[in-house]
Amino acid sequence: MSHDCDVLVVGLGPVGAALCALLAREGVTAIAVEKESAVYPLPRAAHFDHEIMRLFQKLGIAGEMQAASQVAPAYEFRNAAGQILMRYDLIAQGSPSGWAPSYMFHQPSLEVALRRLAGESPHVQLRLPRTLRSFDQDPEGVTAIVDGPEGPETVRARWMVACDGAKSPVREALGIGLDDFGFDEPWLVIDALVSDPSRLPAANLQICDPARPTTCLVMSQGRHRWEFMLLPGETPEDLLDEGVIRELLRPWNCDDVVEIERKAVYRFHGRVARRWREGRVLLAGDAAHQTPPFAGQGMCSGLRDVDNLAWKLAAVIRRDADPALLDSYQTEREPQVRSVIQLAITMGRVVCISDPQAAAQRDAGMLAQRAAGGEAPPPAPLRLGPGVLLDGGGEYFPQPWSETGRMDDVLGDGPWLIERASVRGGPLAPFADRLEPWFDSRGVEAVLVRPDRYVFGTGPVEVLKAAWADGVGPL
Ligand SMILES: Cc1cc2nc3c(=O)[nH]c(=O)nc-3n(C[C@H](O)[C@H](O)[C@H](O)COP(=O)(O)OP(=O)(O)OC[C@H]3O[C@@H](n4cnc5c(N)ncnc54)[C@H](O)[C@@H]3O)c2cc1C
Repeated sequence: MSHDCDVLVVGLGPVGAALCALLAREGVTAIAVEKESAVYPLPRAAHFDHEIMRLFQKLGIAGEMQAASQVAPAYEFRNAAGQILMRYDLIAQGSPSGWAPSYMFHQPSLEVALRRLAGESPHVQLRLPRTLRSFDQDPEGVTAIVDGPEGPETVRARWMVACDGAKSPVREALGIGLDDFGFDEPWLVIDALVSDPSRLPAANLQICDPARPTTCLVMSQGRHRWEFMLLPGETPEDLLDEGVIRELLRPWNCDDVVEIERKAVYRFHGRVARRWREGRVLLAGDAAHQTPPFAGQGMCSGLRDVDNLAWKLAAVIRRDADPALLDSYQTEREPQVRSVIQLAITMGRVVCISDPQAAAQRDAGMLAQRAAGGEAPPPAPLRLGPGVLLDGGGEYFPQPWSETGRMDDVLGDGPWLIERASVRGGPLAPFADRLEPWFDSRGVEAVLVRPDRYVFGTGPVEVLKAAWADGVGPL
């Protein structure tokens, strides 16, 4: 049976749409099916980090996303009395990717941009509204039955990637269970349009008030986010009531400049799917893992998934790499995902204390720690787990920049083989002052950087070339 496309992407949230755009750049054909016609209308992601902005740079939408977002200056945890318990000075932290550490944005604007990008490619067909009803796989591909406006359709693909969200019908159909981190807290989330942002805090705040743990976030220009923890005995309906929301917002003294745009109650939890690949079907994004939002990383993790997966699928489909390459997707990404979920839960456990005595103890401990140590250090950069890596591989490769621009724009897509000796003379000369110290601190002569901008390995050029050809394909 012939194939309609290389990859069937199920779900066009940010992760599915980004996967389509990445596959298109690799010349891989994709059909994406999405059950809804419009992007998800309720409040979700408000933050993405510098690595994600670098991914947007690769996709050609960094300028658009810069215009649609704001750089986050700081992230503060305060107690009920307003004292700072912990503070990340985000701008001072800097980043290795050539972008600001943290951006605040409006998820639907990004989803519209990613869908447009995917839809513009001749390699991608976006089919919506279409609901995946069932699928079957065999050694050569996946056959899916999709319900559309004119009845059922069959789609035959070499591979299928389920980006179908936290409830993932594909994951369910495969009988893949979830490891649960045992964190489960209900919160009301409100997005508001703001006519005078100067009346609201410029930093992102966690108000660790045991009487009502609260989050207050900057979003894209003209928007603000509040999140309120439900207390024991409260129901979602109680908190979604407009009068109750007005009362919750009263302490912020912004009634006359704020208009509620969207509201929802979510249960925040941490979960990881036990298997991310079953034959020719892979899971990505919320289908593979979910995190509480305290570190602003759920969507970021999903976008890292597809940045890891897209070039591997391309190597298997277009360059006949061994499909076993795709097993490294989970072994590399899962340890990173688990660390991020653990960080978010640690933050959540600080915020979600509703017992006044326990909160007082927490405050005393954190105030003493801050008095002794100052600002919270940035989270350590996360290495990949074991996978398509040689010695010296697995770390994130920085993007130097100069007044002439950013390095990735000079080098373009694909893997990069960079020799220390050639940095000064060629197109990388504007970045030499930042690149040479990287080689010198590691004492290496060359590096091979993967398309997802993690280091494949360091060492002699011929060794790197041969190992890449062996595992992935010719350079
Ligand atoms: C309150 C809140 C705050 C958050 N804050 C942040 C943050 O600041 N930063 C961050 O990075 N993340 C954040 N997140 C997480 C982020 O929103 C999610 O991780 C992200 O939306 C997941 O993207 P996805 O594409 O994997 O899944 P989704 O966006 O859920 O998309 C899945 C898609 O699959 C479709 N689908 C499902 N089943 C089928 C089917 N059978 N056939 C066809 N289509 C189907 C759905 O309609 C949907 O469009 C937050 C989440 C919440 C709830």
